Amino acid sequence: MRIPPPTPNTPERNPAASPMPTRARVRSDTWVVYEPVDRSLARLVAPLRADPRHSGVVCDIDGTLAPIVATPDEAQVIPEALRALERLTQTYVLVACVTGRPAAQARRMVPVDAVAISGNHGLEVWRDGAVHLAPQAAKYVQPIAEALQLVRNDGLLPELGCHIEDKGITFTVHYRGSPRADHAHRYLETQIVPQIERAGLASSFGRMVLEVRPPVAVDKGAAVKRLRGRRHITEILFVGDDSSDLDAFREATVRVAVRSPEAPRALLAAADAVVDGPRDVIELLEHLADVG
Ligand SMILES: [Mg+2]
Repeated sequence: MRIPPPTPNTPERNPAASPMPTRARVRSDTWVVYEPVDRSLARLVAPLRADPRHSGVVCDIDGTLAPIVATPDEAQVIPEALRALERLTQTYVLVACVTGRPAAQARRMVPVDAVAISGNHGLEVWRDGAVHLAPQAAKYVQPIAEALQLVRNDGLLPELGCHIEDKGITFTVHYRGSPRADHAHRYLETQIVPQIERAGLASSFGRMVLEVRPPVAVDKGAAVKRLRGRRHITEILFVGDDSSDLDAFREATVRVAVRSPEAPRALLAAADAVVDGPRDVIELLEHLADVG
């Protein structure tokens, strides 16, 4: 997406005063521009607001709608985010959350029925009050359970401050609580990942986590595609803060990254705009909800 550099004293630099979202950094192929951001971001999402019946708004949860906290159990979606999502469902054809959390847990965190949920990085969807597993993942239920046991039996992980989260069809090793996160990361990389690979499973690092999952071609991008279905949707906004959100960017027309000290460079580089945290995401959602 190319965005021309601002020229002083044009109407664009001095638009009619209206509340706009948040500070963002706008990127283009040839220059980087710091604008009174809100305007840049507003311009990026203008096509969605112009045609909400053919537009989708899809967000990651942790680090995007819920601030990152010490352990995943403590995380909560900011109440204003839930309100904004609910408002969006009144006009936009698709409003969804795509997360690494299990779908049932995500549903509890975002208890707004009209907001679609895809969990476990696209391996699960929440439909008609129940979790539906991607068919190609079903045969990995047992291998994942065995790998989880293997990792739980590793005596050194607790000493390194690692915490293991059972997510059903996937599991996550968190090392945010580690006093030496670099040691924990190295141990996971050199000792645990090879065992995962030998078990025929896939793994990847995210924000202070190692995610272990079935080796199937399902990711957050596939999740967005599945949520979109056969509907005629011309614009999709995706907002996320971590490496796995890059996959979802593939299926979006407007890509917004949430900045943090842990934000992967590749995500920031691939984004059309970068916002500073969940509060800014809420401002953006509210702005999108203000249509007509
Ligand atoms: Mg996240």
